[in-house]
Amino acid sequence: MEWKDFGDWGGRISEWAEDYHLSVGDRPVRSRVKPGEVLASLPAVPPEQSEDMEKIFEDFETIVMPGITHWQHPRFFAYFNSNAAPASVLAEFLTAALSPQCMLWQTSPAATEMETCMMGWLRQSLGLPDGFSGVIQDSASSATLAAVLTMRERALEWTGNTVGLARNPQLRVYCSSEVHTSVDRAIWVSGIGSDNLVRVPISGAWRGMDPDKLEALIEADLAAGHVPAGVILCVGGTGTGATDPIDVCIAVAEKYGLFVHVDAAWSGSAMICPEYRHYWEGVERADSIVFNPHKWLGVQFDCSAHFLKSPDDLVRTLAIQPEYLKTHGADGIINYSEWSVPLGRRFRALKIWFVLRAYGLEGLRERLRNHINWSGALHDRISSTEGFEIVTPPMWSLFTFRYLRDGVEPDVLNQRLINAINDDGRIYLTQTRVDGDLVIRFQAGQFETTEEDVKMAYDAIVELAEALE
Ligand code: PLP
Repeated sequence: MEWKDFGDWGGRISEWAEDYHLSVGDRPVRSRVKPGEVLASLPAVPPEQSEDMEKIFEDFETIVMPGITHWQHPRFFAYFNSNAAPASVLAEFLTAALSPQCMLWQTSPAATEMETCMMGWLRQSLGLPDGFSGVIQDSASSATLAAVLTMRERALEWTGNTVGLARNPQLRVYCSSEVHTSVDRAIWVSGIGSDNLVRVPISGAWRGMDPDKLEALIEADLAAGHVPAGVILCVGGTGTGATDPIDVCIAVAEKYGLFVHVDAAWSGSAMICPEYRHYWEGVERADSIVFNPHKWLGVQFDCSAHFLKSPDDLVRTLAIQPEYLKTHGADGIINYSEWSVPLGRRFRALKIWFVLRAYGLEGLRERLRNHINWSGALHDRISSTEGFEIVTPPMWSLFTFRYLRDGVEPDVLNQRLINAINDDGRIYLTQTRVDGDLVIRFQAGQFETTEEDVKMAYDAIVELAEALE
């Protein structure tokens, strides 16, 4: 395969992609292959001689495609969506063609300066004040790790990276039980240790952290000689959309001088609509905020927007400058690799630029509002259908429910219902646990989802529930 043939193949694959996206709704959402099936279809040894693109593409269709779960399917209602609006895919195509490695300003000034501008556009879109700077991380997990490392260093007066944790006092970090597991991982990797991740009990309809309990736990830790380092708050948690009372929790953190990181990986996108910003009132006082434009804004995976009140603290924690990374004579420029754990970085800002321009904030708001309204209508229908019970109310476009039948253990019944739904293929749902019970989770957020798709979810759920033996 040579560059001179690229145009032909690029055109063919573009046409294939258009057909795929226009007809993906006719396919079952979840892949139906059995474990090991794809592996068994792949040769065990690599080819010694070059192969024809025609044959490679044919194998892509016959071996790879059956093993794909269609994340871009309009009835993908599982997990949180990982979207890929067409304008964003085109930007990724250009990025792949250029393949710049954007670790320093001088290794692609356009990538760095576009990133600065896009983080400014996103900040304004979410209604955040201009005191925040931003960087694009590969994932919310990386942003949370960077934030936890910064809170660790700040609490240890910048000695953790040098003397390590063994010769320092025991740090404590606070979060609710509803945060994503990326928080646990960040605590492990940072060396703080899961024993020092303090789970604050939740209360209220939003299943948010109880601020009085947060304060009591900080006091108890201080009395025990520990060093509270920071609080990780969540807005739109993974299981049920749990949301901490940001304003009051930050007030407690401020009282004790603690670093605050807010994980709004999914729901952050909804903040482009002013009517949802009350969910994170007070967020402008956080030190660090992450949200994933790749989840709900239509920007292709991966793209995580990380806002920082004081980027200097992050850079002080992560920057490292061997001679080969010094950019002499270029004072005042930003080298974004000093803002993240990995050194190498892709050109992610381009796809944000394409998406914001191709759809405009109004176009994106309309999509999000539709998802939320259609999901709300589905919630209303399920809540008035015999045998069904709403477990947690809608948080944006996410709610949970259960199916109940006399004499059948609810967890067993609901697991059977989820299996039946996902084997059926019309829609794709996942489960979570609420206060120990297995429940079914619904969320809408795919870029091309229509009202009809959400209505079809109701038909599939009820029909398959009634058919259960
Ligand atoms: N935070 C929340 C609330 C999430 O739902 C997720 C993933 O779904 C993450 C963090 C982790 O995101 P990422 O895959 O970008 O690391």
